Amino acid sequence: MNENGQTMDLMSLLPEELEALCASLGQPRYRAKQIFTFLSRGVWVDEMSSLPKDLRAKLSQIAENRLPTVEEKQISSDGTVKYLFRLLDGECIESVFMRYEHGNTLCISSEVGCPMGCTFCASTLGGKVRDLLPSEMLGQIIAAEKDMGERISGVVMMGIGEPLDNYDNVIRFLQLVNHKDGLCIGYRHISLSTCGLVPGIEKLANEDLPITLSISLHAVTDEKRSAIMPVNRRYGIDALLSACAAYYRKTGRRISFEYTLLHGENDTDEDAAALARLLHRYMRGMPIHVNLIRVNEVKERTHRAGTRQSAHRFAELLGTMGVNATVRRRLGSDVDAACGQLRRARAKKEERPS
Ligand code: SAH
Repeated sequence: MNENGQTMDLMSLLPEELEALCASLGQPRYRAKQIFTFLSRGVWVDEMSSLPKDLRAKLSQIAENRLPTVEEKQISSDGTVKYLFRLLDGECIESVFMRYEHGNTLCISSEVGCPMGCTFCASTLGGKVRDLLPSEMLGQIIAAEKDMGERISGVVMMGIGEPLDNYDNVIRFLQLVNHKDGLCIGYRHISLSTCGLVPGIEKLANEDLPITLSISLHAVTDEKRSAIMPVNRRYGIDALLSACAAYYRKTGRRISFEYTLLHGENDTDEDAAALARLLHRYMRGMPIHVNLIRVNEVKERTHRAGTRQSAHRFAELLGTMGVNATVRRRLGSDVDAACGQLRRARAKKEERPS
């Protein structure tokens, strides 16, 4: 604890901030790099063998270990691993480890719960509890690497929460995860997905971070989008797609659009044609990609998934209209794959202990 009775969150500090801390403890600055590298491997202070004992003792006194612990783990037959992580205050979040030919990717959460209220999503059913700290986002990757014994080379921010609703912590997390003395994951291997918080998109465009921005679009008219995504009542499709075009002009980074297919609601041939027209109108000449996802059915909700064939037909139709689209493989479909379901099941169990 420090003099204000607060504990420090070491894993949220950048190396230069750790340097300042070391200096304030009368230690040489190079200790900061050692500490940062240890932390990024999931080694806590008491095991930092190359640090002097008195420094370890001091750090143990002032800081708390916020590395998430594995509360539950579901392993899918395709090798996908879904984690339920426990945080220091007892809250739970989810991450999903996925194997691709180009390397391992972790899908991470950015908040405990979610305030956005999308009607097809399990993560938002109980609302938002709190923001995740930078260390708690980073810690999901470190804890998963440690548990799997494998390196993670890509990150998608598509787990529980809305990253742009936790803007400052997310930016700091990105700086931490990219740092050469830490996990050193390239910005180009990181995707950030948003339901469409326009001011956040505008701010992100100025950060000069070459990450991939994903936009959860899911509908082509304001009426339909507002019905399934309350955020659309604040920032409609025109504001959102104008911000996307400006983002591309500023960053030169290809934008990807997520489109969750909800059977009988947004998946007709006419919807595909309207989607292509909409994207051409706002994003003409810019590289874009559409990811089609068959909705993971959430039992509290009425949305239903269509067939795989109809998803592929939707993709082909987009293709014939000049829009690059793929149907997202459903990794881990035999585990509780819809984000938020594992956390919800756990919360219910803890409400009514058997
Ligand atoms: N809040 C951010 C990131 C988290 S959601 C966002 O909205 O983009 C990650 C992606 O999963 C989003 O595209 C979201 O719309 C989608 N999604 C949420 N629930 C889903 C479900 N039940 N089935 C399919 N996709 C879902």
